[in-house]
This record gives sequence, structure tokens and C-alpha cells, in this order.
Amino acid sequence: MPSDLVHLYMRIDHLPQMWCPGCGNGVIMRDVAQAIDELINDPDERFTREDFVIVSGIGCSSRAAGYLDFNSIHTTHGRAIAFATGIKLANPKLHVIVLTGDGDCSAIGGNHLIHAARRNVGLTVIVFNNDIYGMTGGQYSPTTPTGDLATTAPYGNLDRPFDIAQLAAGAGASFTARGDVFHARETTEIIKQAICHHGFSLVDVYSVCPTYYGRKNKKGDAVEMLKWQQANLIPGARFETMSQEDRQGKKPIGVLTHNDYPEYTDEYLKLIDACRKKGRK
Ligand code: SF4
Repeated sequence: MPSDLVHLYMRIDHLPQMWCPGCGNGVIMRDVAQAIDELINDPDERFTREDFVIVSGIGCSSRAAGYLDFNSIHTTHGRAIAFATGIKLANPKLHVIVLTGDGDCSAIGGNHLIHAARRNVGLTVIVFNNDIYGMTGGQYSPTTPTGDLATTAPYGNLDRPFDIAQLAAGAGASFTARGDVFHARETTEIIKQAICHHGFSLVDVYSVCPTYYGRKNKKGDAVEMLKWQQANLIPGARFETMSQEDRQGKKPIGVLTHNDYPEYTDEYLKLIDACRKKGRK
């Protein structure tokens, strides 16, 4: 992370961070800090630092809520979206950003994810998606590709993986997007759009875990894993120009769905207002 961002937005007394060398989590944390910094300094936007709340669950990724020096809360496993929903309902003016992992949000917290998406609660969920449970020792997660190895799948994972952005879109999320660690600049822009969206937004950011997922599956070191992202995760505009044959095995990054559904806390406040006018408590 550039030193100006570190000094502006990180809790220096929490450093050095605990992530392994080559881990993608630091890049995603930097993207989030950069996105917030650019929004705060954009004269056309009206963000202040105090508007932001960072909420995380449990896992390697969720340490980011401790490192980032905002109003922040490090919650329990899978429950970050539930805590974030409570904060948003208590003070709808806040921009509540959830930092979570693939296991945290789509396994243990899967129900919270789909129902927050369905309700269109105005949260921004940033998924640090490394295809595995890192902190607890390399168990397979809902995004581990079929056939890949994990400590709990020593002969290969039988399950078909979730595409978390598609899962959220299918549950009714009004804004979904995909980013990755290699395309950091593009991912920062996507995160800015997600934060500015009025409604539930989710950015599924493909990370790299060279320690567990990479080593178990012979993906090479962090540089090799980033080269894979460069070759296979393609910015949306370029993806559109590719033939069906060239698209095989590749995925687009960028905004995937963008709809203007009524935002949940707006509707909640309208309901309270209507009840008060009718004299109900
Ligand atoms: Fe990153 Fe994986 Fe190490 Fe966790 S185990 S810090 S996800 S490289």
C-alpha cells in the first residue's frame, strides 16, 4: 500500500499485518482504502471519513477491519452482513462496507447474504475470494473448483462451486461486480461504483492464497497465480470483443448487474412515517 494511504487510513499500531507473503488480501485492502480516499476527495461526491463503517466476519480477509482506521467492527463468523444490516437500519446515512471471505459470506453466512441481497439493504459487500478457508487450515469452501485439493478434500473436491456474484444477482442484489487482485486499478474503480450505488452492492474480488490453495493445487507462487488472473480474468469491454472459442475458461471482470430497486432502509423509514401519521406506535 502506498505510504500516504498507510498513514491516512491504517492503524499503524496494528502493523505489521499477519497475512502471508504474496497473499492477495493486502491488495484488496489497498483497493478499498484507495476507493474511499478518492471518494472523500472527489468534489462531486459528498463523502466524509466519518460516513464509513467497516464490518468484517472471521477469516484471513476479515483482519482488514482491524487494520483499516475507520469506525469498524470485527464480528463473528458468517454474521458480518447481519451486524452491518443492524448498523444501516440504526443510521441509514452511513456507508456500511462489509469485508468478508468466500467461506464467511457464502457458507456460514450464506443465508445473511441472500436475504440482504433480496431485501436490497444498502450495504457494500467486498468478497476476498481465495477459493479456500485460509485461516483455519485450507479446508475447501463453496468456491473451491470441482476436483481441486484441500485439507478436507485430499482426493479432490466433489462439489460444484458457487459463482458468488451470480448467487447474489440471483437472490436479487441490485448491483453485482467482479474484480481481481491483478487488475487492481480496475477493481478500485468497481469498488467506488459499488459504494456509490444506492442499494445492496457486492464485488466478488478474486484473491490469491499461495499458502494453502496455491500450494495444494500446484498453482505456483504468488506471481504465477497473478499471471493466471491476467490471462483468464478479462476486463468486460475486452471480453465482449472475444470470440466464444477465446472465452473458454475465462471470466469477465467489471459490473455484471445494475438495477434501481427500492432500497430497504428507505422503505423502512417510509413505513415508520406512515404508521406515525396513522397514530400507531
Ligand atoms: Fe493469505 Fe492464504 Fe496466508 Fe490466509 S493463508 S494470509 S489467505 S496466503
